[in-house]
Amino acid sequence: DASVPTLLAEAARQWPGKAAVQETGGGVALTWAELDNAAHTLARALLDAGIERGDRVALRLPTSAAFAVSLFGALRAGAVVVPISPQGPAAELNGLLEHSGARLVLEREPTEELPDGVTSLSPAVTSDGAAEPVDASGAGEDIAVISYTSGTTGPPRGVMLSHRALLANLDQLSRIVPAPLVHGDRVLITIPLFHVYGLGLLQTTAVGATAILSERFLAERTLADCTEYRVTSIAGVPAMYAEFAAMDPEELGQGLSTVRRMTSGAAPLHPKILTALRGATGLDVYEGYGLTECAPVVTTTLVTGYPKPGSVGRPLPGVELRLVDSDGDAEPVPLDPDDLGDAFDEDGGTGLVSIRGANLFSGYWPDGSHGPDEEGWFRTGDVGYLDTDGDLHLVDRANDLIIVNGFNVFPHEVENVISMLDEVVEAGVVGVVDERTGEAVKAVVVPAPGAALSEQQVVEHCAEHLAGYKVPHTVEFAESLPHSATGKLRRMRLR
Ligand code: ATP
Repeated sequence: DASVPTLLAEAARQWPGKAAVQETGGGVALTWAELDNAAHTLARALLDAGIERGDRVALRLPTSAAFAVSLFGALRAGAVVVPISPQGPAAELNGLLEHSGARLVLEREPTEELPDGVTSLSPAVTSDGAAEPVDASGAGEDIAVISYTSGTTGPPRGVMLSHRALLANLDQLSRIVPAPLVHGDRVLITIPLFHVYGLGLLQTTAVGATAILSERFLAERTLADCTEYRVTSIAGVPAMYAEFAAMDPEELGQGLSTVRRMTSGAAPLHPKILTALRGATGLDVYEGYGLTECAPVVTTTLVTGYPKPGSVGRPLPGVELRLVDSDGDAEPVPLDPDDLGDAFDEDGGTGLVSIRGANLFSGYWPDGSHGPDEEGWFRTGDVGYLDTDGDLHLVDRANDLIIVNGFNVFPHEVENVISMLDEVVEAGVVGVVDERTGEAVKAVVVPAPGAALSEQQVVEHCAEHLAGYKVPHTVEFAESLPHSATGKLRRMRLR
C-alpha cells in the first residue's frame, strides 16, 4: 500500500539538489534532500514525544517551509495531520483541537493556553547532518489528514482523507494531458496551506516542481515575487485574480512574463476577470472545481486544455460525475462528450453533482459517517448542469436556494449579473424573510472605489437580464463582504 511520504522520499532520490520549497521575501529555501532530512528529524522528535500511529497532530502554520516539513514529518511518524488556521481565534483552535482529539500542535510559537494534555512543538526546518530515517507512516486506507471544511454552509466538519484518496487525486491530476504540472515548474502558492486546496504541495512534490510559498497575497508584492522567483505557474483563487485584474494591464503583463499556467478554484471566477487577465497577459486562467471530500479536485478546464468562461470543465480522468435528483436517481454521465447522447438535459436541466472515484474521503471524523454510498457515490451539495460539450457548469449550492413565491432563485446567477456592471467589485445575494412572497431577494453590493451607483441602477440592470422574480427586492451597499480563507463568499454570515 502506498503512503503519502513516499512522494517525498522519491523526490529526494530523483532530485536531491533541486529546490523543493522557497519562501518569498528571501525566506527559507530547502532542496528535496534537505526537506526529506528535516521531515525525518521532525518524525523522530514526534516519536520521542510519544506520538503513536493514528494520533492526531495539529498543524497550525502559515504557508511556509515549516508547513511542508511538518506535513511530511508528522505523516512519517504515523500521525494523522489536522491542519488548522494559524490566524483563527483561540476559541476556534481549542474547538478543533478538542473535536479532533489532537495531542500535539506544531506551530511557530508555543500557544500559552492549550487544552489539558495537548503539547506544543516548534518544527525545525534545518538539521545538522543526516537524520536517521523514520518510516512509521500509515498507508492505503489509513487516514492521513483530517481536513476541516471552512464551514461556508454550517459548522466545521472533519473530512477524513486516506493516503489512498490523496494519492489517487494526484494520479488523476497527473493524467491531464494538455497541461500537466511538470518538473522544473515553479508554482506560486499563496493560498493558506491549512485549507485542503493547500495540499497542492503534494502535487508539486509528486512531480518535483518547486513550491514558491508566500504567507499572504498582496497584489503589488506578489506580482514582484512572480518576477523575482521566475514563477511559471500560479495556483490561485478568484479573489486573487480579481485583484490582479484591477491592476495596470501593462504592469501585470510584465510582472507575469515568466508564467505559463494559471489555475483557479474554490469559488466561481467571474468571466470579466478571465477577460481582463487574458487582455493583460495573453494567458488564460483554467478553472477547476474541488471539494475537501474529493481530496480535492473534481473537474478542471485543463482536461480539454481550453478555458470556457462560466464552466469548471470536465472530470479528471478516473473521476466519474453524474447529476442526480434529490432522490439520487440518475443515469451516469459518460465522460466522452461524443458519447454523451441524451445523458444531459438540452434545456440546461440541473441536478445535484454526484462524484465517484478513488479520490473520495472516508466519511467525517470521528465515526466515518456520511461518506460515499454503497455504490461509491458521494452527493455534493452543489447544483450544476452539463452543456452540449459535456462541460460542467455550477449553478449554486443547493442550500443557498432562495424560494420566492414558489419560484427558485439561485443567488449566484443574480450575483453574476450584478457583477457585469463596471461599477461593481463584488455582489452577494441572499434570501430574506418576506411576508408576502415567503422569501425575497436581497443584494449587497460593493461598488468600485469612486463609482456612483444607485439602488435603482442595480435593479434596472437586473430587470434587463433576469426574470422578474429574480430581481433583487432590496439593494444595500457595503465596503466589503465576508469571505473564507480561500476568498469564498460566506453567504451565511452575509445573511
Ligand atoms: P462547507 O462545505 O462546510 O460549506 P467549504 O465551502 O469551505 O465548507 P470546501 O470543501 O472548502 O468547503 O469547498 C467546496 C465547495 O466550494 C464546493 O462544494 C463548491 O460549492 C465550491 N467551489 C469549489 N470550486 C468552485 C468553483 N470553481 N466554482 C464555484 N464553486 C466552487
